[in-house]
Amino acid sequence: MRASQFFISTLKEAPSDAEIVSHQLMLRAGLIRRLAGGIYSWLPMGLRVLRKVENIVREEMNRAGAIELLMPAVQPAELWQESGRWEQYGPELLRFKDRHQRDFVIGPTHEEVITDIARREIKSYRQLPRHFYQIQTKFRDEIRPRFGVMRGREFLMKDGYSFHTSFADLQREYASMHATYTRIFSRLGLQFRAVAADTGSIGGSGSHEFHVLADSGEDAIAYCPAADSDYAANVELAEALAPAATRAAPELMLANVHTPGKTRCEDVAALLDLPVQRMVKTIAVVRNELEVGAPGWFCLILLRGDHDLNEIKTQKLLGDFRFASDEEIKRAIGCLPGYIGPVDLRFAHMIAVYADRAVINMSDFVCGANAEGYHLTGVNFGRDVPEPYQVDDFRNVVAGDPSPDGKGLLEICRGIEVGHIFQLRTKYAAALKCTFLNESGQPQTMEMGCYGIGVSRIVGAAIEQGNDERGIIFPAALAPFEVVIVPMGYHKSEAVRAAADRLLGDLAAAGIDAILDDRDERPGSMFADWDLIGVPHRVVVGERGLKEGRLEYKGRRDAEAQMLAAAEVPAFLQ
Ligand code: ATP
Ligand code: MG
Ligand code: MG
Ligand code: MG
Repeated sequence: MRASQFFISTLKEAPSDAEIVSHQLMLRAGLIRRLAGGIYSWLPMGLRVLRKVENIVREEMNRAGAIELLMPAVQPAELWQESGRWEQYGPELLRFKDRHQRDFVIGPTHEEVITDIARREIKSYRQLPRHFYQIQTKFRDEIRPRFGVMRGREFLMKDGYSFHTSFADLQREYASMHATYTRIFSRLGLQFRAVAADTGSIGGSGSHEFHVLADSGEDAIAYCPAADSDYAANVELAEALAPAATRAAPELMLANVHTPGKTRCEDVAALLDLPVQRMVKTIAVVRNELEVGAPGWFCLILLRGDHDLNEIKTQKLLGDFRFASDEEIKRAIGCLPGYIGPVDLRFAHMIAVYADRAVINMSDFVCGANAEGYHLTGVNFGRDVPEPYQVDDFRNVVAGDPSPDGKGLLEICRGIEVGHIFQLRTKYAAALKCTFLNESGQPQTMEMGCYGIGVSRIVGAAIEQGNDERGIIFPAALAPFEVVIVPMGYHKSEAVRAAADRLLGDLAAAGIDAILDDRDERPGSMFADWDLIGVPHRVVVGERGLKEGRLEYKGRRDAEAQMLAAAEVPAFLQ
């Protein structure tokens, strides 16, 4: 490849709304450009990186026996009504009508579509097991898209779905996928950790998330560093497994909710991913500063009906939630009417109560909020709400807690969720009547697994792990080009041009993905561009070196350049 025939569009400064380093660098290096909130174009340089991730994922999925297909982004509402998710999914699901007023969604995930395919195509146990996957664009109307492609609204996912005759066979495939994911993230050159994750309403122990370790990660992971322990879980799960003394009555939920400036029912419902009609009232709001020190609002809300608490999905910005005891709820609520302190800060959280099982008379404290914005009146932060307090005050599981495996104390670190595998069991297959005829000719519901990888998120996550003051440092497997050839005077020196062209040909012949920077730019600005873009190897072709038959080599992480015999360069780079 020649730079003059490619497209390089670097920026000196990142736009000010780019909060984290990977987002800044992806913009500066010209990998992506923003079209709308959470919606990005991949420029040619970025697309090369995305494709490299995609190809590694594809190779390993194929190696593991999964079969690639491609499903539509647009899905009819009927399938979602059949699975029940038309009701349950909440505002992250983008719904629209076609010209005939028929309802559709843009797929945030494809369980319904693949289950529909399986129930139509697979009739007999002889056709099972099967694992289908695709690498496809998803849309989720994230409440707070941010960090560039890391939490986009439109993003690229690898999603796989496996179908089985028995739970045992699903477990076999699940273990194989666990190993496959481990291989994929290792090949991508990422530092990662697999953690046990909550299976929510499905129950059981069949879910793991794969996290790239990074301080900017939106997720918290609890793990035990003891040499003989392999305990690692996301904090939601770690909390669910916390000792009974700190757990509680399941019908009441006490949660901290970081709802910056958002106090209306609709907003809180959106944050909780709940259908609005289920949320009866936002009763009271207390200003607080939680969630890594950011100012936020914590509110008391009343929910209607019979929720499975596990189905209330909190987005990461909400912080964690846990079940509260009756006693805690009473004490918390006792503090709130009219808001006259002192408040036990641990309860200045959102409290969701199942109306039909409430242990307290809600009318006792509904008066506590002013009607209009539902804010409490006369609350003086600092006077009524004592300081200081710690984020950890609001968690059941904190660093230093005993590890559930009894092998040491827990530590907490942050991660970026790049993969998630899940034993769905018969959740979708039962709802969509996806059956096969078993060996005795009887219809039987299929067992199902699902396996996701955030292909586009990985690019951001890799940059969070690999960067310095000059720019991106890509793992070799992800870099848009493996090598850049930078000639000193390509347009001035016959010798330089001939040597640079020859090297480009030799590298191509050796199967090395190289780019020759034949732009008419100053050396300093070419070096700066390639350091910013994060190409791992740089070869400088200069007249002086050529006289001795030598080229200058520098690795992206190297402090010093070194001279190499020109003929040795292709072998050196292999
Ligand atoms: P998160 O907890 O970050 O919202 P999720 O648990 O909702 O992710 P899954 O439904 O498990 O996501 O989807 C599979 C994978 O898709 C995730 O592990 C993640 O890598 C990726 N992904 C999910 N949401 C986004 C997004 N908004 N932008 C980019 N990638 C995403
Ligand atoms: Mg999500
Ligand atoms: Mg998640
Ligand atoms: Mg997930």
